[in-house]
Amino acid sequence: MSPKKNKKVSNPVPPGGNRRLLLHSCCAPCAGGILESLLESGVEATLFFCNPNIHPHDEYRKRKEEQKTFADKRGVPFVEADPDPAPWFRIVAGLEDEPERGRRCTACFLMRLTTTAEYAAAHGFETFATTLGISRWKDLDQVNAAGQAAAGAYAETAFWPFNWRKGGGSQRMIEVSKREGFYHQPYCGCVFSLRDTNCWRLQKGDSIIERDLTIYGRWLGK
Ligand code: SF4
Repeated sequence: MSPKKNKKVSNPVPPGGNRRLLLHSCCAPCAGGILESLLESGVEATLFFCNPNIHPHDEYRKRKEEQKTFADKRGVPFVEADPDPAPWFRIVAGLEDEPERGRRCTACFLMRLTTTAEYAAAHGFETFATTLGISRWKDLDQVNAAGQAAAGAYAETAFWPFNWRKGGGSQRMIEVSKREGFYHQPYCGCVFSLRDTNCWRLQKGDSIIERDLTIYGRWLGK
């Protein structure tokens, strides 16, 4: 076994020892290791799949089904938020050409985590968290700031800004993804990230990701 695999993994517990948690999930690869750590800690997690940003709908369905299958396998409740992308497109209007980690991503995080906070408050979850920050492609501070801002509107629930990468979390994410054979997502999720990833791949001489780039009858290819 490699030294990395021997690294001690600490299992997280929400603040105050509260064992009931609403966990916003962006996808199965990010959620897998986190969920297993939480289950080992005795945390009663409910997965909240709130990702109306994912484009196109076939991609959304694929990511959702993979997450639900894993949740079912582990006996974890799974809740799907409204997948209608129209409100998401409204909140990112004018931010289409922002780079990843820019203002569009702030708006995207805030929208998804506000919906999560609203659900948490309405269903008696005193704490919510998100899997978004475990990805090395994301800015953890940006994710956590959005979570805190989302929680600010709801007195009944609080955001848990845990760093899921630490304590062996990143390594565990990779191990669970490999073990489960999770689909390896080639772009973040929205149509703009698909467009920009394809531009980058073309510049490197790689093949493009074949997905539909049409939104509301408009072709977004460059
Ligand atoms: S790149 Fe990812 S985080 Fe940023 S707006 Fe698109 S889907 Fe959201």
